[in-house]
Amino acid sequence: MKRSFAFLICLLLAFAVSQPHRTEAASELEKIRSEIKKLQQKMNDVDANLKKVQQDKQNVLNQKEVTMEQINELSAHIHSLEEELKLVDGRIAESEESLLQAGQELEDTKARIEERGELLDARVRLMYTNGFVSYLDVLLSATSFSDFLDRFDSLQSILAQDKAILEAHKADKELIEQKKAQIEAELAGLQELYSKKEDYYNLLVDKEKEKEVMILQYNRQIEALDQRAEELEEISEEQEKQLMELARKEKAAIEAEKKKKNTVYYTGGKLGMPIKDYKYVSSKFGPRTHPVTGQKFKQHNGIDFAAASGTDIFAAESGTVIVAQSMSGYGNTVIIDHGNGLWTLYGHIRKGGIKVKAGEVVKKGQKIAEVGSTGVSTGPHLHFEVRLNEKPVDPENYLR
Ligand SMILES: [Zn+2]
Repeated sequence: MKRSFAFLICLLLAFAVSQPHRTEAASELEKIRSEIKKLQQKMNDVDANLKKVQQDKQNVLNQKEVTMEQINELSAHIHSLEEELKLVDGRIAESEESLLQAGQELEDTKARIEERGELLDARVRLMYTNGFVSYLDVLLSATSFSDFLDRFDSLQSILAQDKAILEAHKADKELIEQKKAQIEAELAGLQELYSKKEDYYNLLVDKEKEKEVMILQYNRQIEALDQRAEELEEISEEQEKQLMELARKEKAAIEAEKKKKNTVYYTGGKLGMPIKDYKYVSSKFGPRTHPVTGQKFKQHNGIDFAAASGTDIFAAESGTVIVAQSMSGYGNTVIIDHGNGLWTLYGHIRKGGIKVKAGEVVKKGQKIAEVGSTGVSTGPHLHFEVRLNEKPVDPENYLR
């Protein structure tokens, strides 16, 4: 055998179906820690998402606030425009009333002028055209001279008065026409102003509606973001629970490993006898002529106890079984780790004679196997080794 014993054990430990407990515990812990790491990464992602969602929500809230302020401003504008429109409307009504009055005045004056004009025309006609006789008739119908003078004066006065009134009416008419034109211009101006203000009012109302639609959209966005945040928080809570569970498992695994590491079964002193019913020691520890190969001064790594096949083999000390299977020249073999670097090895166990499993914890004196002659062996015997940090040492020093 060129391969070293340690290398062989390593191979066995690596490939054994049932690995020693210690390796299992370590890998279990590693697995848990890897899961924790993955979970923490996921939690960080969820946290980052949550922060982003909260930031997004804050942005939307800010936009909403700005829009609300704009709506308030618009509302104030709209309100003041409504007041202005009312005022202009009032002025328009006043102007229309004035216009109506001016029109009526104008009509009345026109009628008066017409009436007066007709009367004057008639009198003048009476006086100057075919009317002199009649005029004279009026005068000549006087009953006395003083009556004649009176009548003459009256005629003169009536004519002069009529003319003056007519002139006054004509002046009035011009004034009223001027006034009417002025009112009409004013009314047109007011109507234009009203129309402009009304357009602006409608524009502002449209803007206000747009902003209100924006507010609705912001509210929907906020609602969606709130829902997303709630979902993320739920995930986060679930992950926290998972993390707690993993932390609990990690703690348990650490404790299990610590317990295993701290389980030192051998603290010094003598080991128990691995076999009681043996016939004799057929070979001691040290150089010897190999009974099978005949090789001289070949190092014998243990003690051989010659015994009948099936004789009970006992654990020399409490410990953890690290090998329980066939192993090259050793045949069926059990190796027990007692801690403090001390191992015991039991070789050539008969077929079906291994009574323990790798990973199993055994007590000192517990039956672990039965004598046989598997592997390179001349007859049924127990090959018993004691190894200190994997190096074979003389079992004699530990047994007696
Ligand atoms: Zn031997």
